Amino acid sequence: MFFSFDGVDGAGKSTQIARFHQWLEERGRTVVTCRDPGSTPLGEKIREILLERVDLAMHRRAEMLLFMAARAQLVEEVIRPALAAGEVVVSDRYLLANIVYQAHAGGLDADLVRQVGAAAIAGVRPDMTFLLDIDPAVAAQRIGRAPDRMEAYGLDYLRQVREGFLVEARARPEEIFVIDAQRDPDAIQTDIRALAQRRLTP
Ligand code: ADP
Ligand code: MG
Repeated sequence: MFFSFDGVDGAGKSTQIARFHQWLEERGRTVVTCRDPGSTPLGEKIREILLERVDLAMHRRAEMLLFMAARAQLVEEVIRPALAAGEVVVSDRYLLANIVYQAHAGGLDADLVRQVGAAAIAGVRPDMTFLLDIDPAVAAQRIGRAPDRMEAYGLDYLRQVREGFLVEARARPEEIFVIDAQRDPDAIQTDIRALAQRRLTP
């Protein structure tokens, strides 16, 4: 079973994933959590270029391809082997983020990003994606640090990101579950567990 979490930075992905991981383990599952980009030696190097090197000139298409390269490695080194071993995988972001940040909000052609995405993931898709939906201004207030490359694009961009996420969720309601992330963490986690429970029970 493969779960992914998405939503703008500050939405509460890390917070909810930690709790979800604990809950899954309590239910006797072996859980592998990962972050995309990242969680492989190659992926962590690419992540550093993508998110920390705000000074580096980078065309959107180059940016998109770097995300995809990191994801291809993550799939083959971490996710596919874990799923094959019957483990539960929980990923902090996945292909959806690329489609939204680079296409819906970033201006790249969405079909192009989907096609490259298909090459990157090679058939490995989340069973469920939890979209933590939040006003980007509220999310920004939660983050007490300097913006990374994606956040540095500004609030208008992040509003388009939020809308892009919601458009994708409406198009694929069986896969992407919209969670109101502007509530207390317990309420959010309760919703996530209730949704996951339905898929996990034999
Ligand atoms: P993300 O991983 O999506 O960027 P985090 O889980 O790191 O988000 O949360 C960002 C900040 O907001 C953290 O300081 C966290 O403690 C806080 N936070 C997380 N969830 C909530 C919530 N539901 N309400 C208020 N603050 C939250
Ligand atoms: Mg996080």
